[in-house]
Amino acid sequence: MSNYNIAIDGPAGAGKSTIARALAEQLKFVYIDTGAMYRSIGLYAAEHGAEVTDRQSVIALLPEIHLELRFESGTQHIFVNERDVSGAIRTEDASRWASAVSVIPEVRSFLLEFQRSFAKKNNILMDGRDIGTVVLPDADLKIFLTASAEARAARRFAEQRAKGEDVTYKAVLDAMQQRDLQDSTRAAAPLKAAEDAILVDTTSMDLQQSVAHIRSIIWEKLHV
Ligand code: C5P
Repeated sequence: MSNYNIAIDGPAGAGKSTIARALAEQLKFVYIDTGAMYRSIGLYAAEHGAEVTDRQSVIALLPEIHLELRFESGTQHIFVNERDVSGAIRTEDASRWASAVSVIPEVRSFLLEFQRSFAKKNNILMDGRDIGTVVLPDADLKIFLTASAEARAARRFAEQRAKGEDVTYKAVLDAMQQRDLQDSTRAAAPLKAAEDAILVDTTSMDLQQSVAHIRSIIWEKLHV
């Protein structure tokens, strides 16, 4: 029997990871967060003295990077050379570094086989920017999740304030629009919906409604 592969793409703050994690738990699928992989490479590059926007210095580090995912009670932990960086990659700096290294085609191809290897062996929900277009073009179902920039920034702002970070809504919105622009205009695998993706706009849905809506699409299309 073949595995089910579900791709969820969309811009930052659309709720991809929270929604994908909740759905994976309901479906007993493995959730694969590809953003964490770009974040890990960005973090490694920044910590090892590379200018993240300098293609050659980032490429030079790739051979020494060994990435591994481990799942602890269903939660993905990402390791770079045996170090668990799952917490360290969740900063605003790491978001920017990830976006910077993700424009480098060699970084994208470095991650491609690693990402595909999970899809071959498991029922997965994989989230990212190019899963439906590049990584898993034959996915059984592709969802493109979006929401207005203001709604996405408001959610991110609330999350960051809850963590005690001293940020303003305006700064969060600016950073998000900057990252959207970079992700959607880069030459290599830009953020865009696959032609056969189902568009879901969560601007006026809360988390529970978004999960229920996508759960019903999965049932309708795949009968799982
Ligand atoms: O999803 P997350 O915000 O963790 O992703 C961080 C950055 O990694 C994105 O802004 C994007 O630049 C990059 N990324 C990507 N392709 C993916 C996943 C993430 O280019 N499949």
